Amino acid sequence: MRVLLLEDDRELRRTLRDALAVEGYEVLTAASLADAQALLAHAREPLDLVVLDLGLPDGDGEELLAAVRRHESLPVLVISARQAEGQKIRLLDAGADDYLVKPFGVAELLARMRVALRHRGTRVSAALTDYRHGRVHVDLAAQRVRRGGEPVHLTPTEFKLLARLVRQAGQVVTHRQLLRDVWGAEFTEHTHYLRLYMAQLRAKLEDEPAEPRLLLTETGVGYRLAEPDEDAAPPLMPS
Ligand code: CA
Repeated sequence: MRVLLLEDDRELRRTLRDALAVEGYEVLTAASLADAQALLAHAREPLDLVVLDLGLPDGDGEELLAAVRRHESLPVLVISARQAEGQKIRLLDAGADDYLVKPFGVAELLARMRVALRHRGTRVSAALTDYRHGRVHVDLAAQRVRRGGEPVHLTPTEFKLLARLVRQAGQVVTHRQLLRDVWGAEFTEHTHYLRLYMAQLRAKLEDEPAEPRLLLTETGVGYRLAEPDEDAAPPLMPS
């Protein structure tokens, strides 16, 4: 797996490069937008993932995201010290796969990278249609949901919302993306629909609906369905 790591902080760049190398990733590093653009344009072999810092000496990482999205379906993970929800949402809606707010642990970065790479694998092979997490089992093909082996009855809208999250399990999905894909483009401001339906789904699927472990809130941004249990995950594409 070849990763482009764009980060201008020398210390952090080295730390991340070393940690990723230990995990077996081949890491190309860039310290500026110009470096990264040159690497993207001239890389001899295709890249598998981009880790993108936002605040860079010669511009904003957001510019690179736009360039990457115009050309390929390369997964992009944003790492940034910026907390602003508006910017997170803009980046995710513009096609970033996920974001991590600094400071973050290397284990967290590696976990998010695995999710992003798995989704890239599922985009080019079969989509994930079978999701298992703890006692919950969602079979998208059969449109069937079970909890602890017992069938769970979902309304068509509840099922659509859950299915949308399953297709991106482990990744944050913004309010706008959910509203657009489940209710339609004209409903993207109706976040109260989401609050209502998410509460219904949690009541049916969570052991403790007030302390969700499956349907996770990303405050101000959207929702994240917990990563599927290991054995249920589809295999990674060979690199
Ligand atoms: Ca920076």
